[in-house]
Amino acid sequence: MNAVSKTISPSTVFDHTEFADHEDVVFVRDKATGLKAIIAVHDTTCGPALGGCRVWPYETADAALTDALRLSRGMSYKNALAGLDLGGGKAVIIADPRKDKTAEMMEAFGRHVERLSGTYITAEDVGVSPDDMEAVARHTRHVRGTMATGLGDPSPYTALGVFAGLKAAAAHVHGSPDLSGKTVSVLGLGHVGYALCQMLHEAGAKLIVSDIHAPAVLRALDEFDCQAVEPSEAHRIEADIFAPCALGGILNSRTIPQLSAKIVAGAANNQLQTPLDGTLLRDRGILYAPDYAINAGGVISIALATPGAGEDKVRTKTLAIADTLTEIFKRADAENDTPERIADRMAEERLGKR
Ligand code: NAD
Repeated sequence: MNAVSKTISPSTVFDHTEFADHEDVVFVRDKATGLKAIIAVHDTTCGPALGGCRVWPYETADAALTDALRLSRGMSYKNALAGLDLGGGKAVIIADPRKDKTAEMMEAFGRHVERLSGTYITAEDVGVSPDDMEAVARHTRHVRGTMATGLGDPSPYTALGVFAGLKAAAAHVHGSPDLSGKTVSVLGLGHVGYALCQMLHEAGAKLIVSDIHAPAVLRALDEFDCQAVEPSEAHRIEADIFAPCALGGILNSRTIPQLSAKIVAGAANNQLQTPLDGTLLRDRGILYAPDYAINAGGVISIALATPGAGEDKVRTKTLAIADTLTEIFKRADAENDTPERIADRMAEERLGKR
């Protein structure tokens, strides 16, 4: 036994702080390829559990288990709130994606996914490339989000959903979804952030852009009539909307008092550093669009697209993110609560947990 496998026992799982009545937690080992993985199926009330596969060099098995339990639960909430007939699951492979990952390892992972008979459906996540997913798909039908199974890159749909969400937030705060003339500070000009900027530019919004990657900023300056600021200034600069599209944790006790915008709505996952930060935003009168509600366009595209078809269905469902957010904002006002707690409650209602 090595250090990684020694630290897990059944009681480790059932007593784990992230354990939330998960339906299945499967520990996977394939000695020949070095595969060591955990597949967590949190809840299948709404349908089979869809969630990405992450390859990461976790230092301990407990760290991998923590991620699998936490992320699979998050997928249940995200899929339920998006109105998808899918449950929540997640797989983590304990390996360095640059050094340890091989096609054979991914194929072995595919065989194990197949063994679950469709209870868990896998997709790309951190550390996994389209080629890796092709390897997985050679051994299981239960894969989504590849070119062969759908529309490919989910980022344009994530951006479309965020754009729709920005309009819903503007309508709630300003009485109109019209973004023309509104100033939007976009932090992070990657796959989602850049596509969002394109839509905002076309809608007549004034853009302020920032990224640690200088070429992305130069490209935006070239393409849009916009201003660039340092990433550390993105939340402070005067703007109507702050759209975090880089990394998580951007909303915290340091940044929230410095925020200028009255709306925070962007694609980044886990924007609130702690649950308390949602209350801090509300106390400052800032409307926050819960991240997992507004950034669901990508999972919608993965879930609903079929080879060469389904784009209309995906677009319609993605644009409906605006309706979900409008309901969240109204309920938050009526129930004097924060939007992210309302979002959780709405997801739990669909999961039959309330
Ligand atoms: P990406 O990797 O393509 O882009 C991220 C961008 O952020 C890069 O340009 C990077 O240089 C920049 N960045 C990183 N750290 C930064 C910092 N400290 N300050 C400023 N810029 C920084 O990622 P993406 O696919 O565009 O996703 C963006 C965010 O949205 C991530 O949090 C991701 O988890 C989330 N998200 C993405 C999708 C999707 O479909 N791609 C779906 C749901 C959620």
